[in-house]
Amino acid sequence: MVALDGPSGTGKTTVARKLAAKLGAGYLDTGAMYRLVTLAVLRAGVDPEDAAAVAALARELEVSVGTDPARPRARLAGEDVGDEIRTARVDAAVSAVSAVPAVREVLVAGQRRIIEHVLDTAGGIVVDGRDIGTVVVPDAPLKVFLTASAAVRAARRSAQDTAAGRSADPATVLASVERRDQLDSTRATSPLRPADDAVVFDTSELSVEQVLVALSELASQ
Ligand code: C5P
Repeated sequence: MVALDGPSGTGKTTVARKLAAKLGAGYLDTGAMYRLVTLAVLRAGVDPEDAAAVAALARELEVSVGTDPARPRARLAGEDVGDEIRTARVDAAVSAVSAVPAVREVLVAGQRRIIEHVLDTAGGIVVDGRDIGTVVVPDAPLKVFLTASAAVRAARRSAQDTAAGRSADPATVLASVERRDQLDSTRATSPLRPADDAVVFDTSELSVEQVLVALSELASQ
C-alpha cells in the first residue's frame, strides 16, 4: 500500500494512477470523494460554509468511487457524475466542505473500508489524498508527499483543464490553487502536511515519468 499525499498540481493523481497500474494494484482517489460531497452540497443549494447543513447532508449521501486505475468512476447515489466534480465551482467550494469534521469522519471511514477490501482482493493499493499518511492509514508502509512550486502547480492544473475542455486562465487557476492549499493547510481537522515518516519529493523540475520511476523503486524496496 502506498499513501500518496500533497497539494494539487504536483502530478499526484497522474502518478498515483500510473503507479497503481504498473504495480497491478487498486487506486483510490480520496479527493474525488470530497468533490462528490461538494457537488451534492451545491446541487442541493446548501451553503458550503454552513457546517451543520453540510454535515447533515454528508451523513445521508451515497458516495462511491471505483478503484480501477484505468477508469476510476465517481458516483453520487449511483449516478456517474463524470467531470462534473472537477468544475471551478466545485474547486471553489471543496475546501470548505472538506473542513467539516463530520464530512471527514464519514469519508475516512469509507476510505478505510475500501482500502481494506482492495488489499484483501487485489493485494495492493495506491491511495491519493491529503491526509492518507497522517490520518487514514498512519501505518502505511510507504508514505510519499509530493510538492511543487505554486507556479508549476498552477501551470499543470491549467494544462489539465485545457485538455479537458474547461476554461483555464493561468492567473485564475493560480489564485484558485493557492487559495485551496491555504485553506487545506490551515483547517483545524487533518490539515494538509507530510507525515513525519513520509518521503518528501519536490516534482517542480521532474517529469511524470521521472517521478514514476522514483516511486516504483521505493515501492519495490
Ligand atoms: O485531490 P483533489 O484536488 O481532487 O482534492 C480536492 C479537495 O478535497 C482538496 O482541495 C481538499 O480540500 C479535499 N481533500 C481532503 N482530504 C483528502 C483529499 C482531498 O481534504 N484526503
